[in-house]
Amino acid sequence: MHRMKGRIQFKGEGNRMTVHRYDPASLHADEFINHDEILETLAFAQAHKDDVGLCREILKKAESHLAPAKDHCAVITHREAAVLLACDDAGINEEIRRLAHRIKLAYYGNRIVLFAPLYLSNYCVNGCLYCPYHAENRDIPRHRLTQDEVRAEVVALQDMGHKRLAIEAGEDPVHSPIDYILECMRTIYSIKHENGAIRRVNVNIAATTVEEYRMLKEAEIGTYILFQETYNRERYEELHPTGPKSDYCWHTEAHDRAMEGGIDDVGLGVLFGLEGYAYEFTGLIMHAEHLEAVHGVGPHTISVPRVKPAMDIDPDAFDNGIPDDVFDKIIALIRIAVPYTGMIISTRESRSVRERALRYGISQISGGSRTSVGGYTQEDRPHDTEQFDVSDQRTLDEVVAWLMDNDHIPSFCTACYRAGRTGDRFMQFCKGGQILNYCHPNALMTLMEYLVDYATPATKEKGEAMVRRELLKIPNEATRARTERYLSDIAGGRGNDFRF
Ligand code: SAM
Repeated sequence: MHRMKGRIQFKGEGNRMTVHRYDPASLHADEFINHDEILETLAFAQAHKDDVGLCREILKKAESHLAPAKDHCAVITHREAAVLLACDDAGINEEIRRLAHRIKLAYYGNRIVLFAPLYLSNYCVNGCLYCPYHAENRDIPRHRLTQDEVRAEVVALQDMGHKRLAIEAGEDPVHSPIDYILECMRTIYSIKHENGAIRRVNVNIAATTVEEYRMLKEAEIGTYILFQETYNRERYEELHPTGPKSDYCWHTEAHDRAMEGGIDDVGLGVLFGLEGYAYEFTGLIMHAEHLEAVHGVGPHTISVPRVKPAMDIDPDAFDNGIPDDVFDKIIALIRIAVPYTGMIISTRESRSVRERALRYGISQISGGSRTSVGGYTQEDRPHDTEQFDVSDQRTLDEVVAWLMDNDHIPSFCTACYRAGRTGDRFMQFCKGGQILNYCHPNALMTLMEYLVDYATPATKEKGEAMVRRELLKIPNEATRARTERYLSDIAGGRGNDFRF
């Protein structure tokens, strides 16, 4: 049990009383996500939310991100970001949206990276009240993919055109121990079906030990993604009554262990709807500040899932759902406060929500997703084993065409990771403004691979026109000429997998 007093948080551990003060560089969850600091931040935000002058000053500070910054630490603090979130002045909110869009273009250009989730197993020993995989759910058919089934799913994903996966599994030491996850990763990387290949496997599995993170690193993990669900410890403990995930500190300190185990890129996320959004937003920014303070590298990605209906789960049971306009603002403010981070939105959200989110900050989206174990090899979308309802049910080809209609370049690029540009090296690269000379041609070449191997004729036509237009934007002449050569080789079937 813990109780709060002033700025200091006490937590009883046996007979000892431990004092927790706010310290972003601490490795203790109660110190870097300090409850009192969040409450003070929220009070500060309420006290200053109508101070339009202060909001403008904060936005001015954040504008320095328009030229990718030398120092990648956040230019605005969680307190300042919380003031902007609380402000309801229409003019300031418009400035927030405009600045977020410009910062996004400065760091990520108009490229959007595509990926798909691959659900390996829905066995779970945890009791998460919002998740249909919870151990008490006796109605959900449980399944874990065999290696043959993994192969079939991966071939189906490769045949859609995917190059990047996020593997997902419930927590179960018997049905999905680390050896099973590692075996699946090896299987996934080994499959080369026609011109297909999965070139980056991100992993979303429960918090684990430094040793197991080291094994994931050796198995060539891309990003280790773990959602915090909620940063409010009391709420966290209510929502996770049983199982290993019920240990708040074990879960919250997982990214630090992952980095200690050698994983360079870690992803954060909150499951919006479980707790008040201002609390979650503040916790999320504090977590990013913590990673920067301890490891010198902030989160590689931040995801923004919202609770969705699922078997045995009614999102209305959680009274913290956020309306779309607030959701848009949160995305814009994450982009402003953590400008370098990749931001992910999944098919939990509808086409129209995703369209706006792309403008304000999202840089990665899933497409053609199935959230059930074995879903990609089934003709019809299976609902009984789905982790959550998928709002955006378009095919990958439809998503690719829609992105291009909105002037986004669909990218299947995985080059940075494969060239060792991860962690602080990725940050250096990103802040050095190298995106147009590297990421832009890489995106065009992977788009061309997609167009040649998988696109429908209409998407192919749209895509080839886009590639021709976007090629002209590569500033370095030699790089442009080389890209043109590579593109022509891909189009003529003389090679693929070129990268800078
Ligand atoms: N088992 C791993 C863990 O506990 O972190 C991660 C895998 S879980 C399959 C991936 C994420 O799905 C969870 O972290 C949670 O945020 C999200 N999720 C669970 N139930 C959901 C729901 N009803 N709606 C939307 N997202 C949900």
